[in-house]
Amino acid sequence: MAIEEQFAGDEKMMSAEAEKSATAYENELRPKDFSSYIGQTQVKENLMLFTRAARDRGDTLDHSLLYGPPGIGKTTLCLILAEEMGAQMRQTSGPAMEKPGDLAAILTNLNEGDFLFIDEIHRLRTQVEEVLYTAMEDFAIDLVVGKGPSARTMRLAVPRFTLLGATTMASRLSNPLRDRFGHVARLRYYEPDEIQQILLRSAKILGVEIAPDAAAHLARCSRRTPRIANRLVRRMRDFAQMAGENTITEAVVADGLNRLHIDPRGLDWSDQQYLKTLCETFNGGAVGLSTIAAALGEDEATIEDMIEPFLIREGFLQKTPRGRVATDAAWQHAGVTPPARQNTLM
Ligand code: ADP
Repeated sequence: MAIEEQFAGDEKMMSAEAEKSATAYENELRPKDFSSYIGQTQVKENLMLFTRAARDRGDTLDHSLLYGPPGIGKTTLCLILAEEMGAQMRQTSGPAMEKPGDLAAILTNLNEGDFLFIDEIHRLRTQVEEVLYTAMEDFAIDLVVGKGPSARTMRLAVPRFTLLGATTMASRLSNPLRDRFGHVARLRYYEPDEIQQILLRSAKILGVEIAPDAAAHLARCSRRTPRIANRLVRRMRDFAQMAGENTITEAVVADGLNRLHIDPRGLDWSDQQYLKTLCETFNGGAVGLSTIAAALGEDEATIEDMIEPFLIREGFLQKTPRGRVATDAAWQHAGVTPPARQNTLM
């Protein structure tokens, strides 16, 4: 499985509704400059250099593509880039543009030097994507005017802009689109100590104290993802407040995670059910996707996109030609004794 396809799953802790309201809250915690953007050192250093060079030349920044798992900081980084370049940023997303005219309207309304941020750029419709090619390369769009035999193409100039694309699935981008970006950067999962710094920063902004051991504990359960870390710190603030505490203590975190059914490795209830079923009902596998989906009462796509990627990344699950197999770590984690060793990983 392509690494970026594994990324897709980590959004599962968030329903569409929750995501909408979370976006409003997210802005409060978003770093506004490079110095408060924690981690991703290499990517950040390159982008700092490119922005400085472009600024010194009085030029626009090259079109850039950022890819990586959801909640990892792509949008935040693009907002920082716009800020650094003193540019306005117009935001849209691949699926939001239904026809070429939607994109044409956005492009023709940009001002010189503006940034256009397209989230989920891998989900652009082909016809819309084709408009983007000439816009990116020649700062022009070709419009078809009229219908039938009298139809003709008219070229319209668009202001010099910078396209920033974000995607969780870089492999789904067509080659012509990918090739038109001057820079492609991959954002990685964060180290626990980086997540801990993000948690401490967020707690400070939210005006709540967090004990060091509590922060370390939360960091371990945040799936190496800032958005999840920030969501957990908000919930812990609620739990602390309701317990009459001014500080998020280790006890608050332990109790809070328990209430949210999040275990010490950051597995939520459905991850835990998956491992339990794989180990207890199917003796650790190998078992086919359809069988495990039926046993869990989930559809196959949900399991494949939303549950398995994290379990694979954490080393609990292997996908083999014969089916899904629990690793030793999974048995240990599920607290179940494995049956006598068979050659299951073949
Ligand atoms: P993406 O666009 O990759 O889905 P976002 O940029 O929206 O992710 O980030 C989600 C949240 O995580 C933001 O609100 C921000 O507060 C936080 N965040 C992301 N990256 C960082 C970082 N490097 N340092 C601090 N906070 C971050």
